[in-house]
Amino acid sequence: MINLEEMKVEKEKCVICGGNEFEVKTIDKAFDVRGDKFNINVEIRICKKCHEQYFSDEESTRIEKELFDLYKKKNHLLTSKEIIEIRAKRNLSQVDFARSLGFGDKTVARYETGSIQDRAYDILMRLADSNVGYRFILNPKYGLDYFINQEKKSSINKNEASWDITCKKHTNGEIGCQMKTSLA
Ligand SMILES: [Zn+2]
Repeated sequence: MINLEEMKVEKEKCVICGGNEFEVKTIDKAFDVRGDKFNINVEIRICKKCHEQYFSDEESTRIEKELFDLYKKKNHLLTSKEIIEIRAKRNLSQVDFARSLGFGDKTVARYETGSIQDRAYDILMRLADSNVGYRFILNPKYGLDYFINQEKKSSINKNEASWDITCKKHTNGEIGCQMKTSLA
């Protein structure tokens, strides 16, 4: 069983004996991700001199992504692909999607490349998948107009409620919005 944090990564030279010749093999290996066990196929490199086993840099990145997605599926969290799909529906960049939810600028990018999101962040991204829910969680810091303008490009699901929003910036800087909702 390999703990993800303790994965040995080969950077051209064996850290045990300094050897630089490796044999490549595909094997089935067990991994531990935050207490959950997963078995996946991996490509290992075996030092020809001392037989220590390594992963290449690229393989370790791939393994991490596969394991994180398996973990997310098992724990009912959105996978990287699902997060990309939600964001794509709204035509938002990673940074804009993150800002719209009040996350740090790099947060969405991290989740899309594999990092495991906390449950609270997961719920917010799921809410963003429903148009009605998204209205409630839009981060006011960047101004509603900003995100509403972005959203005009995205298609609205006909099976959901549709609405018109009119926003006005008052002289004191506050933004007031009126919302008209109708069920399709
Ligand atoms: Zn070695």
